[in-house]
Amino acid sequence: MKKVLLVIDYTVDFVSDEGALTCGKPGQEIENTIVSLTKKFLEENELVVLPVDLHERNDLFHPETKLFPAHNIRGTKGRELYGKLNKLYEDNKEKIIWLDKTRYSSFAGTNLQQLLSERKVEEIHLVGVCTDICILHTAVDAYNLGYEIVVYKDAVASFNSAGHEWALGHFTSSLGAKVIKNN
Ligand code: ZN
Repeated sequence: MKKVLLVIDYTVDFVSDEGALTCGKPGQEIENTIVSLTKKFLEENELVVLPVDLHERNDLFHPETKLFPAHNIRGTKGRELYGKLNKLYEDNKEKIIWLDKTRYSSFAGTNLQQLLSERKVEEIHLVGVCTDICILHTAVDAYNLGYEIVVYKDAVASFNSAGHEWALGHFTSSLGAKVIKNN
């Protein structure tokens, strides 16, 4: 079965200590696992996609404007990939697909489903942040579209530890996902 690794929102704003909406330490602790999984998928010639939140400055119409501090604004440092993933992406740009998204789910308003169906991908592997927001909403859409789902619990994180734990349970109990460890 062909698979894809979705590395969701692993940017400076969501992970770095200086990030606008950061997961902080839990987000930083998954860096090496995310990097090694990305390398593994590339070595096995499997698809790697980076769905990255995109916001415009002072967007009064975006629903997140009322909910969160401004983050992942177009053209800012906060929207760059965090840590070693940034270099790995720069070195493998011809193989990795960058996917701008403007909602929690990587499927909402993007061509992700077309990318996957063109390549006959049936299994979605999820890593990145936040477990209970963008990972969760992407997993729900993947479930509704009939994909097999794998979540790496040592490669997802959130600024809300209770939400993180709840979402890990929900992936298995309600979405039929495999929740596994890479290491
Ligand atoms: Zn956002």
